[in-house]
Amino acid sequence: MLSALSAASHPRPGVVSMIVALAGGVGGAKLAHGLSMCLPPRELAVLVNTADDFDIYGLRVCPDLDTVMYTLAGVANPETGWGVKGDTFAALDMLRHYGQDTWFRIGDRDLATDVLRTYMLRDGRPLTEVVSAMSSSLGVGPAMLPMCDEAVATVIQTPDGELDFQDYFVRRHHEPTVTGVRYKGVEQARPTLALLSALEGAEAVVFCPSNPIVSIGPILAVPGMREALLRSSAVSIAVSPIVAGQALRGPADRMLESLGHEVSALGVARIYQGLVQGLVIDTSDAELETPIRELGMEVLVAPTVMRDDADRRTLAEVVLRFARALNHGR
Ligand code: GDP
Ligand code: CA
Repeated sequence: MLSALSAASHPRPGVVSMIVALAGGVGGAKLAHGLSMCLPPRELAVLVNTADDFDIYGLRVCPDLDTVMYTLAGVANPETGWGVKGDTFAALDMLRHYGQDTWFRIGDRDLATDVLRTYMLRDGRPLTEVVSAMSSSLGVGPAMLPMCDEAVATVIQTPDGELDFQDYFVRRHHEPTVTGVRYKGVEQARPTLALLSALEGAEAVVFCPSNPIVSIGPILAVPGMREALLRSSAVSIAVSPIVAGQALRGPADRMLESLGHEVSALGVARIYQGLVQGLVIDTSDAELETPIRELGMEVLVAPTVMRDDADRRTLAEVVLRFARALNHGR
């Protein structure tokens, strides 16, 4: 198995070596799931964006954490990638009868997750502990680590003013032009002890193919996170979420463009330059290999579109082999 990517890079005897995957929602969850198929549970930790989190109907909703949790638990809705498979919407229908605006689709089972999480948070338990307890109950083996325990909220700047993230993303179907992004509250946030210790024992950090601006961006914006990543002896590699100049879904391509980035795997490489030693790009982007190498990172060209579970596993194996090769070369 790929339990130790290289003996030389093994951090300390007795400390479990980890693969730490940075993930947002649907794109990140797919590769995290692939990794969970290749690794023993205690050798994988998924570090998840929480800047999408918000309150609705008095409940704390954590969309990316739940997407990762449902995906790893095997209960995610395969059509959408988010929400629970086979969920019903009776509670939301009732809320509509009460005259509530039900633009955010929360199924009945999904609502139970939000109810319990809110209940535990109000009891004073940190988000990291709540997520650990709930994901274990669903049978998720790998550690799921929120990027911080403090509340951070992505705010989207548009020509017509600022929008809360879910207002932009869900209610307005990510149509407004994004002219800027800020992460409200991030100055007060700190990497959690759980994630710092996972990074310390990590052999490899994998930036999943998540939106670089609003999924990976907030994780990197937590004060101390970049330093923790740079301090870690782990090799870091990313998988480009931009394939053939486009996002496979969602607004990442339009967002990169309106924020002045090149909409390609090269643009992604520039964003992660200095943080990753390697980038996995899709076979359809093979011609970008040389310009990306010129930025000072290794490039692996491979099929990166995950259509089914087998694709997720195959890409995860490719990523782990790449990490092992980079570790051996150091
Ligand atoms: P969200 O929080 O649900 O929006 O999801 P993420 O930020 O984790 O992922 C969104 C990104 O995932 C988009 O930019 C997609 O292009 C990318 N993505 C989704 N599926 C795949 C895939 O199978 N392969 C690759 N390379 N990227 C993907
Ligand atoms: Ca998200």
